[in-house]
Parts: sequence; C-alpha cells; structure tokens
Amino acid sequence: MRGALGGPRVLLRRLREVMAEPVSAQDRLDKVVVLIAANMVAEVCSVYVLRVDGTLELYATEGLKPEAVHNTVMKSDEGLVGLVATEATKINLSAAQNHPAFSFRPETGEEIYHSFLGVPILRAGNTLGVLTVQNRARRTYTEEEEEALQTTAMVLAEMIASGELSSIAKPGAEPAARHAMHLQGAALSDGIALGHVVLHEPRVVITNVIADDVQGETKRLDAAIATLRSDLDRLVEHRDVIEGGEHRDVLEAYRMFSYDQGWLHKIREAVMTGLTAEAGVERVQSDTRARMLRASDPYLRDRLHDLDDLANRLMRVLMGQDHAPGREQLPDNAVVVARSMGPAALLDYDRKKLRGLVLEEGGPTSHVAIVARALGIPTVGEIENATGLVEQGDGVIVDGSTGHIHLRPPQDIEVAYGERVKLRARRQAQYRALRDRPCVTKDGHSIALMINAGLTIDLPHMNETGAAGIGLFRTELQFMVAPKLPRTGEQSALYQTVLDAAGKKPVTFRTLDIGGDKVLPYMRNFEEENPALGWRAVRLGLDRPGLLRSQVRALLRAAGGRELRVMFPMIATVEEYDNAKALVELELTHLRRHGHLLPERVQIGTMLEVPSLLFQLDELLERVDFLSVGSNDLMQFLYAADRGNNRVSNRFDTLSAPVLRALKDVVDKATEHGKPVALCGELASQPIGALALTILGYRTLSLSPSSVGPVKAMLLDLDVAAGAEVLLPALARPIGSVSIRHKLEDFAAAQGLQL
Ligand code: PEP
Ligand code: MG
Repeated sequence: MRGALGGPRVLLRRLREVMAEPVSAQDRLDKVVVLIAANMVAEVCSVYVLRVDGTLELYATEGLKPEAVHNTVMKSDEGLVGLVATEATKINLSAAQNHPAFSFRPETGEEIYHSFLGVPILRAGNTLGVLTVQNRARRTYTEEEEEALQTTAMVLAEMIASGELSSIAKPGAEPAARHAMHLQGAALSDGIALGHVVLHEPRVVITNVIADDVQGETKRLDAAIATLRSDLDRLVEHRDVIEGGEHRDVLEAYRMFSYDQGWLHKIREAVMTGLTAEAGVERVQSDTRARMLRASDPYLRDRLHDLDDLANRLMRVLMGQDHAPGREQLPDNAVVVARSMGPAALLDYDRKKLRGLVLEEGGPTSHVAIVARALGIPTVGEIENATGLVEQGDGVIVDGSTGHIHLRPPQDIEVAYGERVKLRARRQAQYRALRDRPCVTKDGHSIALMINAGLTIDLPHMNETGAAGIGLFRTELQFMVAPKLPRTGEQSALYQTVLDAAGKKPVTFRTLDIGGDKVLPYMRNFEEENPALGWRAVRLGLDRPGLLRSQVRALLRAAGGRELRVMFPMIATVEEYDNAKALVELELTHLRRHGHLLPERVQIGTMLEVPSLLFQLDELLERVDFLSVGSNDLMQFLYAADRGNNRVSNRFDTLSAPVLRALKDVVDKATEHGKPVALCGELASQPIGALALTILGYRTLSLSPSSVGPVKAMLLDLDVAAGAEVLLPALARPIGSVSIRHKLEDFAAAQGLQL
C-alpha cells in the first residue's frame, strides 16, 4: 500500500502505542482517526458507533467539521454509513454521490468528498460501528487499503467492546456493544437462573492483535493449520467417535473446510497486514459470522457455521488449550452459553455450579434439552447469535419458564428476578415438607403420584419427591443420548438400575418411541411429510421387530425375579396391541427355554394416545392389564394441531369439553372393566390439569418430577365431590364455551386451591 507513513504494519504499531497511552477515551479516538487518515493519505477519517437505540453516532473525525462529533446521529439505515452497518460489509466508491444510498449531513461538511471507503467495526459478527475514510479526489481505494482499514477496525472493535466509550456517551445513548438486552427464545427447561456467562466454547481472548514479526506469524499460522488438519484426520479416522456431541459427518465437513483455499487465503492476507495469527483468524471469523447472521439459505448458514467452528478450533490450536477456563474453575453461578451442545458435554459441567443454559439452537426435543430438564437446569433455546452477543462473565438472567433472557440486566430487573427466585425457593421448601405425607384428598381419595423418567439422572427424583413410582419410563432417551445403538446388555443394565432404584415401587417401561421428531443420529432416517403421523414408535417396532424384540428381551432379563410392567407407544388398533403383546410372549418363551430367571409377573399395557382407541375401548380393555393416557399426543391428534408448532399448539385448550369428555369415557370404561388407568402426559403436571383429572376419576398420575410438589399441595386441599358438582354438569351440558378452564379456575379460587 502506498501509505505515506509506512503502510499498515506501521499504522498498527502506532495504534498499539495509542491504545496503551493513559489518555481519555475521546483523546484516544481523536488520535486514532488522525493516525489512520495520515497513514492512508485520506483527508477524512471518521468513527461512527452503533448506539443502543439503533442509531449511529459520529464519535470522532479527522477532516469533517469538529462540531459534528457527538451531534451527528444517523438512523441505522441512513446513507452509506448506514448501509455498511446493516449489511456488515465494506463499501468502496470513487464517486460516492452517484450511489443510490448516498445522503449527506450539512453539519459535517462532507459534500465535497467524492471517494468513500467504509468498513464495519465487527466483533463476533456483530456490528459495533463503522469506520470510514474519504477523499476529495475521485480515487479507488486499493484492495490492500480495504484490508488495512478492516484490520484497523478490529482494534477499534476491541476498544468499543471493552466498554471504554460509555464514559463519553449520553445516558440512554450508550454504545450498543455492552448494553442491557432482552431476548426472547424458546422455553426448554423450567426455572430461573441468575448468573454469569460462561461460553461453552470460549472465544479466545486475544491479548495481542498486532504482530511484531510478520514472517514469524505466518509461520505460526501455517504450523497451526497443519496441526488442525492432523487433529481432524485423527478424529475422523477414529470411527463412531463423538467429540462433545459432534458427529462424524460434521467432522468430515470440518476436515474438508480446513483445506479451503479461499478461507486460508483470507486469513493469510489478514496476517500479512500486520495482525497476529490469531487476530487474523478472528478477523475472518467475524466476517463469516456477519454473513451467517444475514444468510437466509439454511444450507449456506450451516456451512458458515462449520467455518465458524473451524475458526474456533484453529484459534485454540494457536493459543493452546490453557486459555479456556477449565471446567473446575467455573464460577459459582455459571450460565453456560453455547451454539449447540451434546448431552454428554452438559453432563461434564459441575452440577453444583451450573445455574442455567442458553442455546442458539435446540428445540424442546433436542437431547441436550431433555438432559437439562432431567437435571433441572433452567434452559432457553433459539436465541439467535447468543454466543456473539455475550462476553465471558457478563451478568445474565435465564427464565426457563417463559423463554426470556436478560443480558447484562439493569438493577431493577435483577432485583425483581431475585425476588422470584426467593419465592420459588420458599415454595420448594414447602413442597419438600409434604414429601412423606400420603397424597389423599380432603374427602379421602388416595391419588398415586408417579414421576416420568428416562435417564439414570432422573432416578434420585423418586425419593426427593416422595413419588409412588415411575409411571412412564421413556426408554428412547437412552438411545437418544447415546453415540451409537445401545446393545441389549447395555439396555438391560439401565433397566436393572432403574428397578433397583425403585425398590418396591412400580416402574412402567414404555418400549421405544422413536421416529417422528425423535431421531437417532446413527440410524437411517426416512424423510416423511408428516413425521408425527408417520412410521414411528410401535409401528416401526412391529415392522422391523429386531430392535423391539431385543429391547423386550433386555426388559425381561432385567426384571428377573421381580414384576415387569411394559407398555407400547402409539398403538392405534387392538390388532397392533395383540401383535406387540405376542412379541413379548415370544421372548418370554425363548428365555424360559434357555433357563433364564423370568420376571415374577409381567403386566402388559398400552399408551392411549391415538384417538382411534377411544372407539375400541371395550375390546382394548378386555386385553390389556392397564392403560396409560398420553395426553400430549392424544391432544395433538384430537385437534389436529402439531404439539411442537407454537402457531397452533396453543390454539386449542386441553381443558376443553371435547378432551375432557374423551378422558372421562376412558376412565369410566376402565373402571367398568376393572382395569387400572393412569395419565402420563403434561396435562397431569399442571395443578389445574391434575385437578380436572382427579375430578374425572383418575387415581394415578405420572408427572414431571418438579410438578409433584405443586400438584400434591393442591390435591391435599381438594374436595373431589365439590369439584364434581362444578365440572361434571358443565361437561354434560351442550357446549356453550368449549374451554372449561375458567370454571376450574373459579372453583379453585373459591376453595383456596393453589394452581
Ligand atoms: C404423551 O404423548 O402424552 C406422552 C406422554 O408421550 P411423549 O410425550 O413421550 O410423546
Ligand atoms: Mg406420546
């Protein structure tokens, strides 16, 4: 580059000196713009900072009128500067006035400058501001000059992100970079957490942006790339390895990208301008992230994600592993922020210090969400660019019941949430005190409260809550969190552990409910138009009986000498039930013939979650030993409303006449046939749902462990007969309002029941 003062490396070195000087933030910025303008032979150099209100404020200038500083404030999409900010990309023009987005502010006196080069000030893909140079003459800035300005912008990004500029900002108009933010995501695991951010993949904090020896840095970079490649080779060759939940094809993609010449060239170029190797990687990574945030094509986004991950890996090779806070150095109230995470990685964190989890990805059925719920860690997912918005150690509040996240919360929000946490803790203490009290309603009905479980980490909940047993053991969870198909022996070992933990309390195992949205990464997955209505659960089990039979064998062996209760998911016809039951008998015969210790008793039942069973109740009840209603699926099929789709899942009320009439038929018929019936869907986990079910006649409910306390507290105060007087006539009458929720709420309020 033809810099008057020796090119970008000299500029960077001078900038480093300015950054270290003990001067005010404004003086530092003023010096920076003078240096850049001189080095780039530009008549103007200006820094605009993005504010919390979304506008761009001129913070420093060399060449424009000084009185415009802190007075010129532009909308984020105004003029060329706005365009650079919103698109997060450079703009290089020899005749700026001809550009359709051109506009000028008279107070700056900029109308006389024709050429314009603007670059975004980026950090982790987020725009923090804009850096521009301008010249009177119509000139085209060279690629080297673009590169130099982008490199310089990195130094400014560090300065803005450090929070230094807050001292010269007007109240309410602070730089957006470090300000409080309120974000809304998907509520994945209940509870509230106040804590400090721990990045699951810590961004490498670069302490040295500017290189002393460019040749040396280039060599370091090349050596790191070679190490990265051989690390990836090793991982890919190591078959069926999952590293932190990453699958082999992801690693293969990383390996491929590690040879991407375009990507490597960009990093090398950045290093050639005078950055250290890690700062060069960060520069290119920040560009990648900015593109990723703006890409709408999901394929492209995935690829950019891969490149971003690869940059992290490269950075770690360059900095060594020591930069990351070890798991053992977690702060006492850690809120882990990750793009995505495997369940094994979550289990690696010290449970005593881990308060909450924030994910960029991850739906309610993601494996990590399942484990987070089992561990009781408040979790929010679908927070776009969460990892780019936070810095290590930032204050954060996670509200896992509503999906709200407060980043760097103001004091009033923190105080309000602190109160809520205390209230919840008081309630929990009250619930714990009820643990050993039999669950009997005020008018003498005994209700068995069981828990839903699926992993060994769920088991302690049985004793902690005083539950009567496990009403639903979702066996697919073991399959979902495992890196490969669990063998029969591994399945059996888990079931044995569960039965041992339960002791005399009953456990109802549900056979594999996979397919639909419960995808196993190591099994072939068939694309289906409507997976919830597709080839899933017992349908798959009956059509390909190998897997189901091996599971049944594992269950029968695990229960040798004890009672085994087993049920099937998604049964739609009595024939399906007969076939599934026959399969259990086949395995029993097989084990008997081979002299295995058999269960003392085998109770076979079915989930009731497909509406067709409502019209085969007599035939079904003659066959089964017990029924368990899965209200989650039953509800989605009754109303034809996808339970995972927010647009429709709340459209219909579970506490409505059609659903409650169906549920009443089920319990009435079961009683008539003398067969036990339970309900294990989410409906039972809400006190108001449990209230309705108990009034309808359900005497066994299976709940999320955290719901046992609140539901029990409600039931102890309930007069079932009084409730029946309100609910049953409402169901019998022709429907006026379909929802019966308000009737139940009024009743609860009148009786002083805590819902
Ligand atoms: C249900 O459908 O209500 C149920 C308990 O099963 P799952 O939530 O596992 O589909
Ligand atoms: Mg179900």
